Amino acid sequence: MPMSKSNAMSADGHVARKRFGQNFLHDPGLISRIIGLIDPRPGDRLVEIGPGQAALTEPLIRSAGHVHAIEIDRDLCVRLRDRFSDAELSVEQQDVLRLDFQRLSEQLGGPVRIVGNLPYNISTPILFHLLEAAQCIVDQHVMLQKEVVDRMVAPHGSKIYGRLSVILQARYRMVRCLAVPPGAFLPAPKVDSAVIRMVPLPISEIQVQDWPIFSAVVAMAFSQRRKMLRNTLAAYVDCVDWTALGIAPTQRAEELSVRQFIDLANAVASIPAPLKGGQGIETGAP
Ligand code: SAM
Repeated sequence: MPMSKSNAMSADGHVARKRFGQNFLHDPGLISRIIGLIDPRPGDRLVEIGPGQAALTEPLIRSAGHVHAIEIDRDLCVRLRDRFSDAELSVEQQDVLRLDFQRLSEQLGGPVRIVGNLPYNISTPILFHLLEAAQCIVDQHVMLQKEVVDRMVAPHGSKIYGRLSVILQARYRMVRCLAVPPGAFLPAPKVDSAVIRMVPLPISEIQVQDWPIFSAVVAMAFSQRRKMLRNTLAAYVDCVDWTALGIAPTQRAEELSVRQFIDLANAVASIPAPLKGGQGIETGAP
């Protein structure tokens, strides 16, 4: 069946749904390289986000024996259940953004390994949702837009260094593993893609004392990235010992390293509540 870019139909008659970000991998060489990066082993608690037509699922099952998959598309769930036995694949028809990963890891008996060629329209919300569950995740191998991966691993001082880079680098070790061209997918997306490996830092290496405050400080600092910290963080400017932190309030957010952001947020966290102001600070932590 010929494929058009906007309305690709696979051999089994499934029409790719744009609203679910469906771009299916079809390049066998590339699929085996991705599986090699994941290195699935028998007994791994593999959780795949968006199995689609099982391009990754099938080789994952072959190596690990079982995959637990989260797929929003009801038609694809039916096809997956027809194709694999319950012993090989459990399919949860669910929006991954509503999935309680803590509950899932308890159900599966321990920390899970996340795999997914993610729907690009919601890739950043998925990353932040996974961040909340980082304590029950062994590692994540995810395919994303290359531009998003570049931002995730960007060093301070670069133009693309931002909130995503700081928050994720404070919680994960990340390695960009593989660049993937549009032609590896059907239908072909308009953008380049990349696979990234993310390993949550062990608790002993996490320096952030208060995640909601850290998250709020980073968001405020980058809210107007050209402005100086003394403007974006005006609420804290008089309560923080900038000299002790080795940061000048005249610096801009993109000049601060992740470690400096952590030190700054920890200093804000230690300000007595009546002085803190605290706009935009929510509760809850990864
Ligand atoms: N893994 C397959 C592959 O590599 O060929 C499909 C990847 S495709 C880019 C993204 C998959 O995520 C689709 O199967 C889509 O239906 C599913 N999906 C989209 N939004 C989702 C959501 N909110 N929750 C769970 N799955 C979702």
